[in-house]
Amino acid sequence: MTAASITPGIRLCRQCVNPSTRPNMVFDAEGVCPVCRFEEEKRTGIIDWQARRAEIETIAAWGRANTKASYDCIVTVSGGKDSTKQALFARDELKMNPLLVSCVYPPEQLHERGAQNLANLISLGFDTLSIGLDPQVWKTLMRQGFFKFGNWARSTEMALYAIPIHAAIAYKIPLVFYGENPVLTIGERHGRVDGDASRLKLGNTIHGGPEPLFTDGITHFDTHFYFYPPDEDMEAAQLRMIYLGYYIPDWSGHQNAEFAIAHGLQIRSEPPEMTGDLWGFSGVDEDFRLVNQMLKYIKYGFGHVTDQVVEAINAGMMTREEGLELVKKYDGKCDRSYVAQYCRYLGIHEATFWEIAESYRGRDAWKKDDRGGWQLNLAESADRT
Ligand SMILES: [Zn+2]
Repeated sequence: MTAASITPGIRLCRQCVNPSTRPNMVFDAEGVCPVCRFEEEKRTGIIDWQARRAEIETIAAWGRANTKASYDCIVTVSGGKDSTKQALFARDELKMNPLLVSCVYPPEQLHERGAQNLANLISLGFDTLSIGLDPQVWKTLMRQGFFKFGNWARSTEMALYAIPIHAAIAYKIPLVFYGENPVLTIGERHGRVDGDASRLKLGNTIHGGPEPLFTDGITHFDTHFYFYPPDEDMEAAQLRMIYLGYYIPDWSGHQNAEFAIAHGLQIRSEPPEMTGDLWGFSGVDEDFRLVNQMLKYIKYGFGHVTDQVVEAINAGMMTREEGLELVKKYDGKCDRSYVAQYCRYLGIHEATFWEIAESYRGRDAWKKDDRGGWQLNLAESADRT
């Protein structure tokens, strides 16, 4: 709160549109975000891709040597664009025998498209372990996340990340691949700037486990898979958790989507003014995420379009100016029908939803205009080059 009074407003990265209000965002002395610096390295050829390839081959060999199962690695999947790229890279490039592990959404949340995409991925020739969790506990934790943190996805992210680790220990497959290092793709700094994913559980939203979301009737007894296994179990299993995206030269949202669509991925067809999503290929397995991206926008002043534009500017797909236009036009958009669907699911009134959402409005990110409406609080010169 005091920090807000010292440096009010959103500053944007000078090269892309990454906002200073992103949790854990650190700009360098020149006001440039870590994503832009990483992408510069990529473009200028400082990255030695051959060395990275050799590194991931060594990791793959380690996985083969240390597994006690016939699978030599676990690939965490949802069935989306990144899953397809990872699974096929592990199998076809690294010549591994992966076990895919996914946490499936409850039927009330899972979009038919998501079920079809996961089925499509499996049909490409994989053994897959899907774990579904008690829908009532799922809903209660989600509801708590929304009310207590303005973010329903806290508990579900915990399960999505922890389940593969439980599987790794249970099946004695110590090598676990995750997709992308969020430091490198959106600039959220809670890990190392490399392929090591072992600090994942310190992430902004999943740190600390689900206990703060416990409410009447929900205990440890109900939430096994929302917790990472104890550190000593993880150490005894000698797990290695790796961001596979770090080792794949053509890893990006767009390139992964193109690759996955060519392999049968179905994407959203609704326009960005409804979804706050420029291209419709992110998180296509359910629609509540659209509501959560809008909540993120209310909290921090940026949503999914910002994330997409950061990547697109760095990929040379648009200028910073064009990106800013798209952010202004579409960021934070979420059609009322998604909100209504979400409220029906949680069993709350829409008025309650908006009241809670409003209570999380970030005072760094927003200011009142003359007529009492909320305006993004861009710091001086934030939208100039
Ligand atoms: Zn940047």
